[in-house]
Amino acid sequence: AVLPGLHDAHGHVLDQGWALESVNLVGARSVEEVRLRIEQHLAARPELEADRERWIEGIGWDQTLWDPPVFPSASDLRSVLLDGRRIALRRVDVHALWLSERALGEVEAAGLPQPGVDIPGGLVLRDAAGRPTGVLIDKAMDYALNVIPPWTDTDRRRFLAAASESLLSVGITSVGDAAVDLPSLRFFRDADERGELALRFYGMLACPTSSPRCSDSASAAGFPLLPRHAASRLTVRTVKLFADGALGSWGSAMWAPYADRPAERGLMLIEPNDLRALVAHWLDAGWQVATHCIGDRANSLVLDAYEALLSARPQQDLRLRVEHAQILRLNDTSRFGQLGVVASMQPTHATSDMGYVEKRLGAERMLGAYPWQSVLRGGGILAFGSDFPVELPNPFHGLYSAITRLDAEGHSPSGPGGWLPHERLSRADALHAFTYAAAYAQFEEQRTGSLERGRRADLVVVDRDIMDEATTPKQLRETQVLATIIDGRTVWTRA
Ligand SMILES: [Zn+2]
Repeated sequence: AVLPGLHDAHGHVLDQGWALESVNLVGARSVEEVRLRIEQHLAARPELEADRERWIEGIGWDQTLWDPPVFPSASDLRSVLLDGRRIALRRVDVHALWLSERALGEVEAAGLPQPGVDIPGGLVLRDAAGRPTGVLIDKAMDYALNVIPPWTDTDRRRFLAAASESLLSVGITSVGDAAVDLPSLRFFRDADERGELALRFYGMLACPTSSPRCSDSASAAGFPLLPRHAASRLTVRTVKLFADGALGSWGSAMWAPYADRPAERGLMLIEPNDLRALVAHWLDAGWQVATHCIGDRANSLVLDAYEALLSARPQQDLRLRVEHAQILRLNDTSRFGQLGVVASMQPTHATSDMGYVEKRLGAERMLGAYPWQSVLRGGGILAFGSDFPVELPNPFHGLYSAITRLDAEGHSPSGPGGWLPHERLSRADALHAFTYAAAYAQFEEQRTGSLERGRRADLVVVDRDIMDEATTPKQLRETQVLATIIDGRTVWTRA
């Protein structure tokens, strides 16, 4: 069967390539397994093992899978092989960073704030004596990320090639790249000018944390940037803002405290009083705004800010976006439709997280978790993606999650009918969210996202008919891409 080229409305391209080269900690069941995976990674890379000055980076740990499910510490990264190494491991949601003792020492020496000094939007975990334990959360991660050597264009070229291959192999022809710094945007533009982009990229600018209104430096660098000719595959017209953290590290901003941490209700990363002015700044500078919102409070406050700004600009087609829209108060679900705000959501996040959501939120608030059908029924536009490398980029996994709300084995906390099954989607609605609606979310539905006369010829050949109900959801999940075609050219085929 043939499908329109699949979009991933929200992923992280260079991070995907980076992750493919880093220690993969997804699914590790204990700190022992984390150490073992690092040691195996080194054993397979003798040059990295031999160079004791090089940083060892990894991604994917999740303390909720461990017994007990508590944050790790720097001393957990001690072993004969690992002692004295600089190690930095990102949590599966990339909202927490776990450092080895040597790495932590260097980060402290570079100026980690003393105990009691507030880090807006960030947290340094400390022991009873006030010493950092080795885990930095949200904006506190910057103190470490400034010490780790930055990527070079040589790194980026390698990351882009690896990421492109992994995306094309699962039928993705267009990606919303959901947080790209200026040096990486320049890299993408140069690659596009040389005709080196294998698929379409919709780059969302991420400013340095210290200057959230970086539109002047972006403009000096030539952004926003619309495709200048038919062969161009890069669009940059969106800024990515971060309203809060993530659920897994109790960082998402909630109206009420977490059920499993009654003293905490998460972090707003943008001052609520500044939200409207910050979004207005970017709209005035001519940018689309996409704001990361996980918790119900972050979502409400951002929708409030959007609502006020939209009512002042009734004639403009702004297509404001909320990235994730993960936990909503039930009366916020219809606001996406009312306001014309795009809900950019990730079906596999729901089925990866569903095991701990009730514990964290309680039964009542859980009803507003990953509420795709409610947003859709309220007239909202759902644009789907995976948030790779947080999840695998495979859109057939996303389609399966969207129509079943089950894990790969067919289980869910509410049984084999799916988790909160009233929020499941039809196949047609789920496919729409991975194609046309994702193109709409980037103002490109006249160019891609459907198989129609006048669109670019982006399509995918697959080995089964996923829209035929005779194809079971599990079979749909196992769909293999046979060929991926962009601009009428076959750019990937199954060997
Ligand atoms: Zn993301």
